[in-house]
Amino acid sequence: MDGAGISRRGFIGQARDTAVVALAAAGAAGSVLAQTGGGAGGSVVARGRPMPDGVSLPSSPLRPKRQDSVGYAVVGLGDYALNQMMPRFSRSERSHIAALVSGNPEKLRRVGDAYGVPADARYSYEHYERIAADTRIDAVYIVLPSGLHAEYAVRAFAAGKHVLCEKPMALNSADCERMIAAGERANRRLMIAYRVHFEPHNMEAMALMRRQAAGNIRFVRTEQLSRTDPKSRPAENWRIDRALAGGGPLEDFGIYGLQAALYLTGEMPEAITATTFQPRNDPRFAQVFASVASHLRFPSGAIAQLMTSYDSDGSNIAHVRGDTGALIMDPATGYEGHKMRLEGRESRDFSLGDPTVQFARQLDNFSDAVRDNATIRTPGAMGLRDVRLIEAIYAAAGTGSVVRLSPDGRMRR
Ligand code: NAD
Repeated sequence: MDGAGISRRGFIGQARDTAVVALAAAGAAGSVLAQTGGGAGGSVVARGRPMPDGVSLPSSPLRPKRQDSVGYAVVGLGDYALNQMMPRFSRSERSHIAALVSGNPEKLRRVGDAYGVPADARYSYEHYERIAADTRIDAVYIVLPSGLHAEYAVRAFAAGKHVLCEKPMALNSADCERMIAAGERANRRLMIAYRVHFEPHNMEAMALMRRQAAGNIRFVRTEQLSRTDPKSRPAENWRIDRALAGGGPLEDFGIYGLQAALYLTGEMPEAITATTFQPRNDPRFAQVFASVASHLRFPSGAIAQLMTSYDSDGSNIAHVRGDTGALIMDPATGYEGHKMRLEGRESRDFSLGDPTVQFARQLDNFSDAVRDNATIRTPGAMGLRDVRLIEAIYAAAGTGSVVRLSPDGRMRR
């Protein structure tokens, strides 16, 4: 599961900018996340890190399958890029790795050699702008720490490239809006890499809920939980550094629980209450929350309870309870191993094939958008919507009162 391997990450992170994202204590109810503009303009900077654990590089270079295959520059060679996404380009129909961007020359060499990326298509962060002149690159895939997404997306658009950006889109809605505007100015496409929209169980769950297989939805409960290594410190782990990770678990994997609540109900919430917990004297949570819990009320009357934590026994579930049945997804939103059961009028367990097709199908949706102007299933507007909801959750927790929302996820004043 996204973020579950935090304790494995052995890099030395230092970037921190207290002016970019400030966590201001807000009494016993927890803390409010006051965001004043992260990413571009902030002093968080991209830095090279050692090779992550467990990487197995291909034994022979990958070749594009089609002449009109879209060439991607992979920006950030960390755990998710190297262990999940890059190997899955081989299963994509229309996407290939054309270039690499990293701050670690040794990683650039080893990964570049293994994937058959020419030496002159391996860029450092300092020379990122040079991708503009490289016609082998159609799009960038940004897989950097989240606080760097906005800056690297805006700069990619300025270089004339399309942008596939990892989730969360950015750490505040102003940066999301800046990314969308930059894409529109450059007339280039923007997609947020919410892979679960391409995963067979989640796609079937959306269809089942649309045809009311559990009746009218009354409750949704999601848990995205893991336990960060007790020895972990912000200087060694960007996920607990607020300038790079915002409030922590909600932006990291709790966002998938939030997404599930939206795509299972098919609605936008109209009211939110929330609680955060940030223990004192635990260096892991000096800058980010340990746990975030929120209640979302939808116009139909459905209520979602979302729980996410970096300090809990692991879990990754989405449960729906309707007035005539239930849908149980456990695990719900991981890389593989999905299990799904429908109970009620038509009870059954689902076995829908290999969940790992989600990675390549996501790539191909974006490549089809770049080449044929296809509709993007998870566009920038969806990323912005979710970041607005995250801001609303923190506002509700910080004030201890109900936050009411417009249909586009903006907080009502
Ligand atoms: P990671 O720490 O393993 O990799 C981060 C990469 O960024 C490394 O190559 C590192 O060298 C580089 N980097 C550049 N500047 C850095 C800095 N200042 N501090 C730390 N690293 C820096 O992280 P990851 O797990 O690969 O996550 C990267 C992105 O991918 C995040 O946005 C995360 O939310 C996203 N992600 C998405 C999923 C998913 O399921 N879609 C899963 C995991 C991660």
